Amino acid sequence: MEEKSRRNKLPHTVIVKAPGLLPMLYTPREICEELDIAESTLRDWLQTGVPHQRDNRNRIWINGESFAGWVDGQRKPKTVSKLNEDEAYCMHCNQVSKLISPQIHPIKGNLVLIKGTCTICGNIINRGAHRDRTPELSQN
Ligand SMILES: [Zn+2]
Repeated sequence: MEEKSRRNKLPHTVIVKAPGLLPMLYTPREICEELDIAESTLRDWLQTGVPHQRDNRNRIWINGESFAGWVDGQRKPKTVSKLNEDEAYCMHCNQVSKLISPQIHPIKGNLVLIKGTCTICGNIINRGAHRDRTPELSQN
């Protein structure tokens, strides 16, 4: 199979569903059913650091909350920006500002440029974004 990078590329469904896992112990099969992934996928992840434990019969148990935390850690974006689609970082103000009448310019594929006016200083500021992470914008 794909022997790509060691970095775990998490399916979108996992990212969406993992936070819904409960702080209880799941079997690998249950985790797979909850998250809609293959057991082989989960097994790979277990080897790369998914927190889990084994009982005295060598069965694997996974705490849902710990798993969700692991998922969160995996997808930690380089730019830890949790900006809303109508916000951007203004270089003039050195802070996040709301945008006046933000406009979305498609760049390519999934990338868009969000452009608007800083509510604080009035300069035009823009930032890149992923269309799929700003679903509200996808049809503008
Ligand atoms: Zn500004």
